Amino acid sequence: GEIMSSFNDFNLSTEMVAALAAKGFTSPSPIQALVIPEFLREHANIIGQAQTGTGKTAAFSIPILETITRDGPIKALVLTPTRELALQVSDEMYSLIGNKNLRVAAVYGGASIEQQVKSIKKGCDIIVGTPGRVMDLIDRKVINLSDLEFFVLDEADEMLSFGFQDALESIWASLDENAGGKTKIEDKQFNTWLFSATMSE
Ligand code: AMP
Repeated sequence: GEIMSSFNDFNLSTEMVAALAAKGFTSPSPIQALVIPEFLREHANIIGQAQTGTGKTAAFSIPILETITRDGPIKALVLTPTRELALQVSDEMYSLIGNKNLRVAAVYGGASIEQQVKSIKKGCDIIVGTPGRVMDLIDRKVINLSDLEFFVLDEADEMLSFGFQDALESIWASLDENAGGKTKIEDKQFNTWLFSATMSE
């Protein structure tokens, strides 16, 4: 379809419009214009090719924040290859939440797991984290995937080259279990979004 050139074209909530204005975002970046309308559809599985600095974080964060509600277990899981990116993504999400009161937890290795467990147990709607720590928290039954609506792999290409494949496969197996053992991506109960700077098979 036609590429949108204004955030007004997306039918966003007044909270989101206010948060975008407060951040000084006047118009969507090209990747945002392309994918936000797709992301706002139900059950859209998407692979987006975008470099860092193109606005991809907001491209997937805006639809997640617009869609989920604050009740029950986590609704969105975003995996990143590094702790720095996990913190960057969670900061950007917080700046877009406005008055919606959604809670984001950033989890990664090399930091106290107890603190992260505590913050998730207090109530958490979105997890942003590195694969190893996320896998650990799933194994400890701290992260409950039964209500998941969005699964995002940020910098998917790097994740594989960083040697996270085993952790990713383990997380994917847990997602599968929670989706009733369905193995085909089209049958899953949640949306899968992959972002990558480069794309291989
Ligand atoms: P990212 O590619 O997600 O790392 O974003 C790069 C930078 O662009 C970040 O500082 C974002 O806050 C900023 N940004 C994202 N979307 C927009 C937009 N529509 N208008 C202006 N800045 C943006």
